[in-house]
Amino acid sequence: MAASPTVTISALDAGQITLPEHMFVTDADPKKKNLVPSLSFLIRHPEPDGSLTNLVFDLGVKRDLQYSPAQQKELDIWQPIITDTDCAQSLRNGVTDAAKTVDDAATTNGLLLDPAKDVDYIIISHAHWDHTGTPSDFPSATFAVGSGTLDLFRNGAGPAYPAKFFNDDELPALRTIEFPPISRTASWAWKPLGVLPHTLDFFGDGSLYVVDTPGHIYGHVNLLARLAERRYVYLAGDCCHDRRLVSGERDIGLYDDGHGGLRSIHTDTAEAKKSLERLREFVKSKADEGIEVEVVLAHDPIWRRENAHKCWPGKM
Ligand SMILES: [Zn+2]
Repeated sequence: MAASPTVTISALDAGQITLPEHMFVTDADPKKKNLVPSLSFLIRHPEPDGSLTNLVFDLGVKRDLQYSPAQQKELDIWQPIITDTDCAQSLRNGVTDAAKTVDDAATTNGLLLDPAKDVDYIIISHAHWDHTGTPSDFPSATFAVGSGTLDLFRNGAGPAYPAKFFNDDELPALRTIEFPPISRTASWAWKPLGVLPHTLDFFGDGSLYVVDTPGHIYGHVNLLARLAERRYVYLAGDCCHDRRLVSGERDIGLYDDGHGGLRSIHTDTAEAKKSLERLREFVKSKADEGIEVEVVLAHDPIWRRENAHKCWPGKM
């Protein structure tokens, strides 16, 4: 039997931000703040001609915090913010504490990868400032975003996400595609994969799926990658911001919405909860089939600390 197509994944440092714990999990110490990574991931897909297609998932924090003045003001709550090392730098030189002994640490002109030339696709999990990074560093890449994201960049979404928090020119218009709405069939059709109701086969060979994960913000997507016959990695973006929500030890945190009510970090808390439940169910169903699924959140400091060897040019 021919082996199923696979990809490789390497984590990339792409800045760090500080999350007040009570905004994310229940039963939190109201004063506790955690410095967390904003991770990007390099996914490499082998092509029949022996070349590799390079896809980057999320770009993290913008270098030198080049945000608009309105956006800058909103960043106070997440300080301290560290923009060094950014995604482009990690691609060029590798992640500082990653193992450098792996085979594909070969460099061209001293660079592991040139963000300006070597990145074919960039999928942004969602429109938040700590995931969109510095798109101008990638002048030859095609960007792909979840349905509704381009409208969000232009118009924002309601009082919690006014237009001034976003840039309508965030992504290069001529090089950006939006995944189709899940209700519509297109050349890329959303199909169920086990308990996940809406997934899209990115390369058409089952090696990488885009997973519709509603709740966090409009157009939020995750990636499911096959690394080997019985080994998958699930890049969960901002499905949650604390691994104790994946394990079920904690619930989504609620905090004052400034209008006498409570909100969570998610646009639709009930949907976000459902997306998390589906993720848990998916991991369990795969485990029952003897398949291991490693779940990696965008902002998990424990995962980052324990997995320097899975960071570029190391791999998962
Ligand atoms: Zn977010």
